[in-house]
Amino acid sequence: MVSHSSKTESKTRDLRLRAGIVSPRKPLPATQRKYRLGTTTFMLVMHIGATFALLPRFWSLQAIAIFAVLYWTTVLGVTLGLHRLVAHRSFLTPNWVEKILVLMGALACQSGPIEWVALHRHHHKFSDQPNDHHDAGRGFWWSHSEWMLHEIPVLKDSYRLAGDLLADPFFRWLDHWFLLLQIPLGLFLYWFGELAQVHGGGLGLVLWGIPLRLVIVYHVTWLVNSATHTFGYRNFDCPDLSRNCWWVAILSFGEGWHNNHHAYPQSARHGLRWFEFDITWQHIKLLKHFGLARQVRQAK
Ligand SMILES: [Zn+2]
Ligand SMILES: [Zn+2]
Repeated sequence: MVSHSSKTESKTRDLRLRAGIVSPRKPLPATQRKYRLGTTTFMLVMHIGATFALLPRFWSLQAIAIFAVLYWTTVLGVTLGLHRLVAHRSFLTPNWVEKILVLMGALACQSGPIEWVALHRHHHKFSDQPNDHHDAGRGFWWSHSEWMLHEIPVLKDSYRLAGDLLADPFFRWLDHWFLLLQIPLGLFLYWFGELAQVHGGGLGLVLWGIPLRLVIVYHVTWLVNSATHTFGYRNFDCPDLSRNCWWVAILSFGEGWHNNHHAYPQSARHGLRWFEFDITWQHIKLLKHFGLARQVRQAK
């Protein structure tokens, strides 16, 4: 169980932080104004690919099915693997389960696990303060996606923030080569699409399984940084702008109960009220049922 901090203490902290949140932000420092060419080009290419995927010639039942399976795999990899398991250690699993879940998360192409965890822990440490890399005080679009197109100063500290993952050679490998995972996936989708002669062929399945799936999963993940720091209700008066937003919770398998999460970051369960349905939590309960999750931490 996660304990509450004392009322007075949290009230003072709240007021201090709110003052910071509402104050206008200074313009970006000169070093951060330039666009990061690699990430910006990659995002542009993926968005163009996703638009092509939606052309009528690439639609097929197989493409929709592959999209659904990969959406489930990738979103769960991010929420269950990268987020609740390794970033917050809100439960423990056998090593092989942890590796599979993190591998699923790496399929989302949101950087490797060490960088992902470091950035996420930094966000919790400085939520909505000027040094939060996706500081919602800088506006909706900044917190949604603009932040990653610029230099991210905290990245130089990523090994310190995610030191516990550094000892693992598999995580270090994934941190460098996560993008390569899309190659065997793409080859398999192309081979299957051609062999099964689906409408749109192998290219159709590749477009649905990679750029379209990546772009939708990107925006769903980014909504947790933007929409749930902007829209919705608050169960807890924690010192940031986090909110609970039901539609983000549906799309992101429970991560939309973000105010609950900021109040109890170590809790494996994010949906706390009876109507706050949390799909990732259901998966954790399933893992526990099969003896694959233990020491599950829960806000009560
Ligand atoms: Zn947040
Ligand atoms: Zn978190």
